[in-house]
Amino acid sequence: MKRIIILGAPGSGKGSQCKWISKDYNVPHISTGDIFRKNISEGTELGKKAKEYIDKGLLVPDELTIGLLTSRLDEADCKENGFLLDGFPRSLSQAEALEKYLEENNISIDVVVNLDVDDEEIMSRALNRRTCSNPDCKEIYNMRDNPPKVEGVCDKCGAPLFIRDDDNAVTVQNRLMTYHTQTEPLIEYYSNKGILKTVKGQKEFADTVALVKEALN
Ligand code: ADP
Ligand code: ZN
Repeated sequence: MKRIIILGAPGSGKGSQCKWISKDYNVPHISTGDIFRKNISEGTELGKKAKEYIDKGLLVPDELTIGLLTSRLDEADCKENGFLLDGFPRSLSQAEALEKYLEENNISIDVVVNLDVDDEEIMSRALNRRTCSNPDCKEIYNMRDNPPKVEGVCDKCGAPLFIRDDDNAVTVQNRLMTYHTQTEPLIEYYSNKGILKTVKGQKEFADTVALVKEALN
């Protein structure tokens, strides 16, 4: 049972790290971005509202985000096994809302891993990112470092790959700005709580995995 938060700029590779962490530690991977994208593809009201913000690189408002997250944490798998939060909290107000939820439920976060990657690298990664369209797979490729064997096709499941609407230069720039102004303060917030571990993102995926493993133990 572990309760983990992974912090990092958009495109820092959080999502890829979360896949193995979730398996190795047997904790549900909860990505607010994935939940929003699922709602968008299903055409729900929430999806329609969230898309307006996501396409601009802005944070989806707290009213649409916090309740969504806490009700997910109320589900049995999180109660039994803990959780791995990816993309939440993304602002101080979200961190405070999470804190309140944790207190009410008499639980606490074990560790916050801060994945540190510089802006230039982030931009290049986001523009090269391809995502598997199969909602049960969601494998992430990078045309520069980790291309699929056949262009446009997922190695794992054969589904077509796509470029996320928000992986364009303008939106990535905005997402980075949003990250620096709203999310970065969380580094100090969790550092003050004594639970932050910073991991510098490495060129090789496996090298980052090794460092994250250390941070989690
Ligand atoms: P990335 O980490 O690559 O930016 P995510 O999938 O985590 O991608 O998020 C995509 C978008 O979804 C964000 O840019 C933001 O608009 C929205 N989003 C995700 N999580 C949150 C959150 N906790 N609060 C507000 N907006 C969010
Ligand atoms: Zn796939």
